[in-house]
Amino acid sequence: MFSGFLDLAKRCSVCGFDYRSADPGDGPAVFVILIAGFLVVGLAVVVEFVFRPPYWVHAVLWIPLVLASTLGLLRPLKGILVALQFHHKAAQGKLDRDQR
Ligand SMILES: [Zn+2]
Repeated sequence: MFSGFLDLAKRCSVCGFDYRSADPGDGPAVFVILIAGFLVVGLAVVVEFVFRPPYWVHAVLWIPLVLASTLGLLRPLKGILVALQFHHKAAQGKLDRDQR
């Protein structure tokens, strides 16, 4: 379903579904920020209070974890959001008068 790291292909190669109708835009990034931020900040606080390490230890621990958790979660979350929008038939908002 992807044509690049995060770019959606135009259509599903199996059924021809048009992915443009289910593009979640920046939605996955929001969830990645919330999940990875909660994980990394929580662990950093625990490590700081339990071990009181020098700052370079934080850099060595958290920079790779930030990169792995954000880059690792983006694609799966985008796939999940596309699937959820397809499943729930998400579409642009319409005013009631448009439906008459
Ligand atoms: Zn398909």
